[in-house]
Amino acid sequence: MQKTVHIIGAGISGLSAAVRLANANYKVHVHEATQQAGGRCRSYFDAATNLTIDNGNHLLLSGNRHALAYARSIGTEAGLVGPKLAQFPFVDLSTGQRWLLDLGDSRLPLWVLDESRRVPDTGLADYLGLMPLIWSGKDRLVKDAIRCDGTLYRRLVQPLLLAALNLDPPEGSAGLAGAVVRETLLAGGQACRPLIARDGLSAVLVEPAIKLLQDKGASVRFSHELREFATSKGRVTELNFGDDSIAIAPGDAVVVAVPPRSAASLLPGLKTPTKFRAIVNAHFRFDPPRDAPPILGVVAGLVEWLFAFPQRLSVTISNGDRLVDMPREELAQAIWRDVCKAGSVAGELPPWQIVRERRATFEATPEQNALRPGAATGLKNLFLAGDWTDTGLPATIEGSVRSGDRAADHVLAMSQV
Ligand SMILES: Cc1cc2nc3c(=O)[nH]c(=O)nc-3n(C[C@H](O)[C@H](O)[C@H](O)COP(=O)(O)OP(=O)(O)OC[C@H]3O[C@@H](n4cnc5c(N)ncnc54)[C@H](O)[C@@H]3O)c2cc1C
Repeated sequence: MQKTVHIIGAGISGLSAAVRLANANYKVHVHEATQQAGGRCRSYFDAATNLTIDNGNHLLLSGNRHALAYARSIGTEAGLVGPKLAQFPFVDLSTGQRWLLDLGDSRLPLWVLDESRRVPDTGLADYLGLMPLIWSGKDRLVKDAIRCDGTLYRRLVQPLLLAALNLDPPEGSAGLAGAVVRETLLAGGQACRPLIARDGLSAVLVEPAIKLLQDKGASVRFSHELREFATSKGRVTELNFGDDSIAIAPGDAVVVAVPPRSAASLLPGLKTPTKFRAIVNAHFRFDPPRDAPPILGVVAGLVEWLFAFPQRLSVTISNGDRLVDMPREELAQAIWRDVCKAGSVAGELPPWQIVRERRATFEATPEQNALRPGAATGLKNLFLAGDWTDTGLPATIEGSVRSGDRAADHVLAMSQV
């Protein structure tokens, strides 16, 4: 008989679990609280710019194995596009200096041996100084593992870790930072090619998954928020959605792929991260110059990364809590000034939109990292997924997909007992 699984939450973690289980011939039911799938990784039409935009610019790297395998499984790997080589142009707004970090195409970080490819004014010894991060324990801070000053830090380590951890790197978990460095810089250029969902996050990472699920006979219900569940003998026996409830037969499974606050209210006593950090994105309706790189790293500015899309320049600012209450117009003007300098463009403020995701990621400190649970719970047929579960990575798409895959593997293992 076909086994049934209920997936709660249609973010990337829930969708990746759902796709894996639908492919394993499970009868899949997805329940999403809002009217749209994708969670923190979604697109929508924005009237201010008259464009479809993403809630945030999401950067993947070619070394994000699970995320790429997920895209492949829903037929959209080709929708993740980027330059052929792992090259990152940077500009320092305090000096105007520009450089190209060229990580090459190797599986080894050979680029650090070549002065013309590494960060200007840095030497091999600076890179060797990062080694303690690679084997750092979970409870160490970045600032206790490596020097958080100097040219290499300012021009590469700080931008990379700020983007990956979404906090000021010195206060971040050295264990998480080490995982990032192991899977990117240390894995050579082959793992570092930047990839962007050029046609939008929903078109590339979300809607094709929903279509695949529906084609396989899965149900995907929106505005269907799980409120609570009943249990008996250590198993979930009923899901309660307020207006309706669903009985869970013996042998059926539930994957809870919701953010930590929802998970904690559904599962009282569950330890989850309790602190979060914001990410601010600004989108400007503006035709990028023809030679604009798809992604530009910006040092010593308010802007951290500048993305060029058709008809749009877009900006990401991590660790954005300080900007959450700033008046929107003032913030848009300040960001646009940086965009003009960094992107070598000029003009009055074009149509714009600012998206401030207050709880974009859990706070990647050792203290909060220690609060992340694994996939298994005290209930035999209920498993957790989400970027905030213990994936060993900071809150990223790669971590979300890994968590979804892991939860699906638990469901598959359950049916073999
Ligand atoms: C602005 C921004 C920029 C980012 N940039 C990057 C980046 O460049 N690279 C990168 O890799 N990652 C990035 N991330 C992180 C990435 O978006 C997340 O790690 C990922 O989307 C999280 O997916 P998830 O499935 O774990 O959780 P979520 O996306 O939060 O999904 C959870 C889903 O559960 C639903 N839900 C909640 N409660 C219930 C309930 N009771 N019943 C039913 N459904 C429920 C929610 O509505 C939601 O759809 C960024 C995030 C943000 C916000």
